[in-house]
Amino acid sequence: MSAPLQTHPLATRALIEALGGDQVKTDEVSCLAASYDNTRYSFMPEAVVAPKDVENLQKVVRLANLHKVPITVRGRGTGNTGASAPIRGGWVIHLAHWEKIEIDPQSSLACVEPGAITAKINECAAVHGLFFPPDPSSLNFCSIGGNISTNAGGLRAAKYGVVRDFVVALEGVLPTGEFVRWSAPLRKFVSGYNLRDLWVGAEGTLGIVTKAWIRLVPLPQARRTFLFAFESDEKALEAAAALMTSRVAPAVFEFLDTQTTEVAQRRLGASVFTAAEVQGVANPALLLIELDGHPAVLAEDAEKVRAWAKGRTLAQRESDDPVEAEKLWTIRRTCSQAMYLLGNAKLNEDIVVPFRSYVKLIQLAQRMRTTYGLPTPTFGHAADGNFHIHVMYNREDKEHCRKAESAILEMMREVVAMGGAITGEHGIGISKSPFLRLQHTPAEINAMMAIKRALDPNNILAPGQIFEPVNVWEYTASKVTFPWDKH
Ligand SMILES: Cc1cc2nc3c(=O)[nH]c(=O)nc-3n(C[C@H](O)[C@H](O)[C@H](O)COP(=O)(O)OP(=O)(O)OC[C@H]3O[C@@H](n4cnc5c(N)ncnc54)[C@H](O)[C@@H]3O)c2cc1C
Repeated sequence: MSAPLQTHPLATRALIEALGGDQVKTDEVSCLAASYDNTRYSFMPEAVVAPKDVENLQKVVRLANLHKVPITVRGRGTGNTGASAPIRGGWVIHLAHWEKIEIDPQSSLACVEPGAITAKINECAAVHGLFFPPDPSSLNFCSIGGNISTNAGGLRAAKYGVVRDFVVALEGVLPTGEFVRWSAPLRKFVSGYNLRDLWVGAEGTLGIVTKAWIRLVPLPQARRTFLFAFESDEKALEAAAALMTSRVAPAVFEFLDTQTTEVAQRRLGASVFTAAEVQGVANPALLLIELDGHPAVLAEDAEKVRAWAKGRTLAQRESDDPVEAEKLWTIRRTCSQAMYLLGNAKLNEDIVVPFRSYVKLIQLAQRMRTTYGLPTPTFGHAADGNFHIHVMYNREDKEHCRKAESAILEMMREVVAMGGAITGEHGIGISKSPFLRLQHTPAEINAMMAIKRALDPNNILAPGQIFEPVNVWEYTASKVTFPWDKH
């Protein structure tokens, strides 16, 4: 739990008077539930506000400006950086109940409220033969508002792109309380500055999204899934980089290192390949590939994939039967949770490196394991260089925490030196704020902060996020269990 924060009892009373008790909660249970995201660092707010409409939301923002109360917007709290945690206290604005979804099949657009769960949007779109391709692994739990504000990626980003590529128009409220609409639900719009794209990925610091129009694409007619085994991490990643020159565009292209395979197989209680298939390599590195699209194009691409695999892999399976394909997915779906067999706390990084540095990156993870004596299982999106290196440790062990902290700093430095990025999909929030200066020059950060000051002169929207380095090691993560922990 964090140190006591400045409180605003008069302002909170004015808020309750303005909105009524049913939209404002100040009890401990409500405040605690809104105090953290998936990072589990808890910062207690003074109130949780669930405004019933845009007009009430504007009242909250105006009151916050008047009384200089920090406000933080919360989607569904699945974020991995603490971006929805109210680090300066104040009020949390909770928009999970704004969850309307309307599909316009003629324009292939969905008009959605920010609290709508991403998987639900896909359920509604599927009725019309459409889908919203960005699919963070959390899609059954996260909201489109959170996806937009983090510019979420996911498993299909390599072929289809990230959330920003699908946002057509946004409506919302500025940090000063005015209502704005960026762009329009049209195929073309180039009037004025593009502030829509500035809001996407701004981690809730530049405005509050109240409605979004997002582009949908036709559901693919066919899919084929492949699982390949390799004798080492290096061999798998060299092969992955080679596939990128075969002019195949896999919808999914996931890498699991040998340590991830080991721990995931242990959790599953079974090996994905028989010992004979993988020539006795108990824990092979894996590549999971899924092709989708028109059956004729898919058949051609499948041939290219088989040709690429020849002589490179230890073993392979493939299927276009949904039930069989799902079996090939099982190990990928379990690896995130399986990590907890290696430690009770994890640092889940989402760095990006160029294709030429794939092998260097995995060797860095292996070296960190030896230097710091902590497990560093790594998996991720091989088609766009966005890998999740995990540093597993025991949070009660101070020495472990110190080593994990040093390991992450070393990793971030090396990734930037490789020409990579400190984050590819989770964002900065608080957990990566100490590394912002490794990635950006002072001039770049000053330009970002000038935009923030221009839109939020009182610095009331998500203060403390992104720009002010937070030493998360000063805080103890709460032992809370979320619904997604069971998956
Ligand atoms: C198991 C698991 C798997 C994950 N896999 C992926 C993955 O594959 N790819 C990926 O990109 N992420 C992944 N994530 C991270 C997380 O799910 C995403 O960042 C997601 O987009 C957050 O959505 P949320 O609704 O939970 O937002 P929150 O965590 O509540 O908030 C995230 C940010 O969005 C802001 N925000 C929310 N709503 C609004 C709004 N209406 N207006 C303005 N700002 C707003 C918040 O202030 C905060 O800055 C994963 C998380 C988990 C737990």
